[in-house]
Amino acid sequence: MAVRLPGQPGYDAATAVFNLTAPPTPAAAVVVSTVDEIREALEYARSFRLGVRVHTTGHASPTQRPMSSALLLKVRPSGPVEVDASRRVARVPAGTLWGAVAEAAAPFGLAAPHGSSGTVGVVGYLLRGGMSYYGRQLGVATNLVRAVELVTADGSLVRASAAENPELFWAIRGGGGGFGVVTSIEVELFPAAKVITGSAFWAGEHAPELLREWLRWSEDAPWEATTSLQIMNLPDLPEIPEVLRSGPVLSVDGAVLAVTEDGVPLAQAQADELLGRLRSVAEPVMDSWALTKPSAVLEAHMDPEDPVPIAGDHLLLTDLDSAGASEFLRVVGPGSGSPFISAGMRQLGGAYSVADPGGGALSSFAGRFAYSGAGLVVDDSSSAAVEEHCSVVRSALAPWDSGWTVPSFVENWRQPQRHLSDSSVGRVDAVRALVDPDGVFAGDVSPGASAGGLAGGSVGDTPVF
Ligand SMILES: Cc1cc2nc3c(=O)[nH]c(=O)nc-3n(C[C@H](O)[C@H](O)[C@H](O)COP(=O)(O)OP(=O)(O)OC[C@H]3O[C@@H](n4cnc5c(N)ncnc54)[C@H](O)[C@@H]3O)c2cc1C
Repeated sequence: MAVRLPGQPGYDAATAVFNLTAPPTPAAAVVVSTVDEIREALEYARSFRLGVRVHTTGHASPTQRPMSSALLLKVRPSGPVEVDASRRVARVPAGTLWGAVAEAAAPFGLAAPHGSSGTVGVVGYLLRGGMSYYGRQLGVATNLVRAVELVTADGSLVRASAAENPELFWAIRGGGGGFGVVTSIEVELFPAAKVITGSAFWAGEHAPELLREWLRWSEDAPWEATTSLQIMNLPDLPEIPEVLRSGPVLSVDGAVLAVTEDGVPLAQAQADELLGRLRSVAEPVMDSWALTKPSAVLEAHMDPEDPVPIAGDHLLLTDLDSAGASEFLRVVGPGSGSPFISAGMRQLGGAYSVADPGGGALSSFAGRFAYSGAGLVVDDSSSAAVEEHCSVVRSALAPWDSGWTVPSFVENWRQPQRHLSDSSVGRVDAVRALVDPDGVFAGDVSPGASAGGLAGGSVGDTPVF
């Protein structure tokens, strides 16, 4: 185990993140994969009185508080993903990315509750809830976690499941982090014969009608379908198809799941119902929706694969009536002058809104749409423009803002967050006090996920590292 200090070779690699606007600057950083390495790292942190932070990819770096008094552990997988096809469970070493789980599950006709990108880390996504394109059928992804193994602040390797340490198992599923360093996670897979997935793009001028149709369809859409709608202002880069670079475009992407081959005709009919309505508004300028294999869902949203400098905001909307749709278009639609590269909504409802009685601290989402909007930040002026526009959108959509947030969609630690009820916050805090009495991982707790006033820099008398 080689701890790297700022300026030393290896420090940059150990602190590399996906979002280039928020490079972390910990006091020290180390890449770990085994339990022994994690224990050694915790010992190091203790001897230098450092807090401990944990990264898989650093995808969420803007949501993490400054960590200048912390040791950052970048976790790399200690082995491959193991699939137990008879139990439909994948054992995933921490540090693994979702693409590897999808690949391991596919030969068994199984799929995983990943989000839109194969480069997202499994642990960070599942600990923060996880919103997948299967979510309206399967619910919040963390409900599919069957067991978590972690090294806690005192170096113990602890297993949490419904049968072992059930209170920790409850808290760690969506409770806001700060329990220890996860070393592996067991997640339920599900049968998936085929999906109809892809994205279709239309010229921005059709946005009002398309948005109206999509919202109408979403009122009683089948639970097998989970989609998103985005308005995009894509940069003039050669890797982006030319037809998408000539002005604002509206896209609708997502997935309709057919669990068995017998279910394919119904899934196709469900996809056709949505796409038929949208295609009758106008001919798409590009359209990749097709009946295909489940791993193609990871391509549908066309997320960037390489690190990008991006900043944005998120709201969980109760609903979006016609006045809301007009406001949405006024602030991020074509002609709005929005500096966002993308602004849109993931469709919730269905199983997302059903609390799981066996679930954890966060087992359902309270709104109908998860809004997010983000822009590229390349200099001070684009940074100011994006930040200012985040406020413009917040004000415009305030009447439809539920006040709740989806933890994995929060963009920045300074933005308002509310993932848990007050009683859940208290219950999660009680678990943290048991597994981390000295607050070693306190800085790793999502803002608002503790009653201890973390945003102010301390939990009771415990400093936040
Ligand atoms: C391109 C892109 C697409 C995305 N698509 C979706 C989507 O479709 N649905 C969705 O819900 N979210 C999505 N997200 C958000 C993503 O799920 C969150 O940013 C998530 O937190 C990333 O997890 P990570 O481990 O990769 O990131 P990291 O920044 O490395 O980790 C985030 C947090 O997770 C915790 N953590 C990570 N690893 C460990 C560990 N081993 N032990 C203990 N704690 C750990 C830490 O608290 C850390 O601060 C997307 C993000 C990007 C960049």
